[in-house]
Amino acid sequence: MKPFMPQLVYIEPQALEYPLARELKDKFEGMGIEIRETTSHNQVRNIPGQNELQKYRNAKSTLVVGIRRTLKFDTSKPSAEYAIPLATGCMGHCHYCYLQTTLGSKPYIRTYVNLDEIFEQAQKYIDERAPEITRFEAACTSDIVGIDHLTHSLKKTIEFIGQTEFGRLRFVTKYQHVDHLLDAKHNGKTRFRFSVNSRYVIKNFEPGTSSFDDRLEAARKVATAGYPLGFIVAPIYRHEGWEEGYQELFERLKVSLEGVPLNGLTFEMIQHRFTKPAKNVILKRYPKTKLEMDEEKRKYKWGRYGIGKYVYPTEEAAELERTIKGYIHEYFPDSEVQYFT
Ligand code: SF4
Repeated sequence: MKPFMPQLVYIEPQALEYPLARELKDKFEGMGIEIRETTSHNQVRNIPGQNELQKYRNAKSTLVVGIRRTLKFDTSKPSAEYAIPLATGCMGHCHYCYLQTTLGSKPYIRTYVNLDEIFEQAQKYIDERAPEITRFEAACTSDIVGIDHLTHSLKKTIEFIGQTEFGRLRFVTKYQHVDHLLDAKHNGKTRFRFSVNSRYVIKNFEPGTSSFDDRLEAARKVATAGYPLGFIVAPIYRHEGWEEGYQELFERLKVSLEGVPLNGLTFEMIQHRFTKPAKNVILKRYPKTKLEMDEEKRKYKWGRYGIGKYVYPTEEAAELERTIKGYIHEYFPDSEVQYFT
């Protein structure tokens, strides 16, 4: 698929004090993309569209260039200690995506240009925990790889973490656009993960993302560039024939990674979950979705801020974990399974 290009760009005036914002402004002007100024991201209104659905779709191709003001990083368990804030929002249309609710009424993509301040804060967190390792997750609120060909802020973050002693970086992506990251001085401190799933899940629930084969080609490139590689199998979803579907996934994975240097390959597994507010939003935005969200068939799990999630009942979840772990051990016996959640 072609790399993402916004249809409309908003720039916060204060962002223009930073070189990255000026660079982006020149770039988009040169491409003839419409640019609007705004005073803060709360004022990004009037996203074109005749109804909510159209506005939502247009928001997903709108880029806001802004400043990250809150420099307190969120935690990011179980995969890292902190979420490093580089961007929010994503152009993908995955039906199950948790950004549907976490970004609420602001589904546009927002990139932060005050990278030096963000790095300074990251360094503080690293120093506080040294000599313990501090891991940062860069894909908590966006698919950062999918927009990085425009901003290169992920590339700068990889190089920043690369020169720290105790910092580590990780992120996950469904996009293939990794070429500009291949020569980044990562020093082995960034784990590059790709999100993978059964054919059924990718076909039915992941529109607007790179195909499985394109993700895998990108995985081969980053592993060859010496990055530690990982895969996140998420969301693990019980569709008809899921056992064969997931087995086929690992077979294809094995074949495509033949001959690739796998430097401590890792797997993370996340079962499908949804919240009640998310279900309502998903049904509005993707009214024809086949995504099964029947509370009766799920187990309720209390969550943060009083919003519980519906996960698979204990026995079904245990079966998913056992089966997928079995495939991982069969096809990639030397890899590490980091968690199932
Ligand atoms: S690629 Fe990731 S962040 Fe983007 S819509 Fe899909 S699940 Fe959400």
